[in-house]
Amino acid sequence: MNASIPSLCGRCRPALRQAAILSRRYASTAPKSAPSPKNRWIGIAIVTVAAGGTGAYLRSQGPGSVTLNQETFTKYSLVSREPVSSTSSLFTLRPRYHSDHSYDVYEDAWKTGVWSVMFKQPQLQIGRDYTPLPVTAATPLTVDEENEGYLRFFIRKDPFGEVSRYLHSLAIGADIEMRGPQIECAIPEETQEILFIAGGTGIAPALQAGYSLLNRTTEANRPRIHILWASRLKEDCLGGKGDTPLATSSQRSWFSGWFGSSGNTGQGSQVAIPQDKEKSLIVRELDGLKSQYPGQITVDYYLDEENRFISKKNISDYIESMPRSPADPRGRKLILVSGPEGFISYMAGPKLWADGRELQGPLRGIIKELDLKGWAVWKL
Ligand SMILES: Cc1cc2nc3c(=O)[nH]c(=O)nc-3n(C[C@H](O)[C@H](O)[C@H](O)COP(=O)(O)OP(=O)(O)OC[C@H]3O[C@@H](n4cnc5c(N)ncnc54)[C@H](O)[C@@H]3O)c2cc1C
Repeated sequence: MNASIPSLCGRCRPALRQAAILSRRYASTAPKSAPSPKNRWIGIAIVTVAAGGTGAYLRSQGPGSVTLNQETFTKYSLVSREPVSSTSSLFTLRPRYHSDHSYDVYEDAWKTGVWSVMFKQPQLQIGRDYTPLPVTAATPLTVDEENEGYLRFFIRKDPFGEVSRYLHSLAIGADIEMRGPQIECAIPEETQEILFIAGGTGIAPALQAGYSLLNRTTEANRPRIHILWASRLKEDCLGGKGDTPLATSSQRSWFSGWFGSSGNTGQGSQVAIPQDKEKSLIVRELDGLKSQYPGQITVDYYLDEENRFISKKNISDYIESMPRSPADPRGRKLILVSGPEGFISYMAGPKLWADGRELQGPLRGIIKELDLKGWAVWKL
């Protein structure tokens, strides 16, 4: 997600964001065929063309709007910034001016799937994308705050990063301008299973995907999501207890795979965290979803600093444990991968940029090596 993308001077207009036909772009484990009505689910591919790119140059904007929208930047106020770990914080923002429609704008996005907003760094005139966290049972937002359009974000401070450093330096009460929502991935209605492979702050889209998918639960429809979350620091996933007791971890981290440093031998997928310690905010959010949708969401934690990495075997063990049906419609089973650029590349191959547009690129990495059948793969 820390993609280094060429400057898009003048190209980052919402008008240039195009809904793409995923059949042409997504990296799927299923054989490719000519587009057919069955491939409609692939409306998943609403690809961020320009506004989604980091490094985008922001053109000067007209007068601000009071309701979040894709055309102009809307002012929000920084309500609080609580540290989650030594490198990341939870930001709570509220619209600077009252609007009766803030909630409606978000609601559509939540129903669709995974979405983001772009924050502006006004001095440098650059923007970066961030992922709102869903409101779960563990969320400290009141109903009034929710209705007023409060948003929360889990943001990592990159010591050399322009926008994340700027956001971490702002005083409480300061204005932050944002634009959106940008739909990063529309989860098809027929989706029943999601395997979400998240690295670092890639857990924020995983929470969104879980929230969006599980909100579709009815007596007859009980979709499921399994999240594999890799963190570099124990503090980020403090108190996280994995749901797959016998999962084994990788011999090699995505980090070593990408940068070529030596691998390590891991022991298990559980983060060995004393249960008497407090839980990190994100673990509480995940537990909140679990208590809201018992049996429909499971999570396994992996920790770089303890040499516990997501392995091919962890992925294949989960896939094998799923019932198979050749009659499954496409879109029923989905693998989503989200995290830093190197993490996504290691898992599913790099995304590509061509003609000012971000494309999925071919499926590569360890997911390709697994040669999974019947699962569609989407890189966030
Ligand atoms: C859809 C989407 C959703 C996202 N959601 C979140 C989220 O919820 N939370 C979150 O924390 N992040 C999220 N991100 C990542 C976020 O958008 C930013 O990329 C991240 O915060 C870093 O931005 P920055 O401006 O601080 O760093 P940048 O200034 O972009 O720098 C990033 C890194 O690149 C290095 N770098 C920059 N320029 C060069 C250069 N010329 N040569 C070599 N190295 C260089 C810097 O040293 C730094 O380490 C998301 C990204 C996307 C695309």
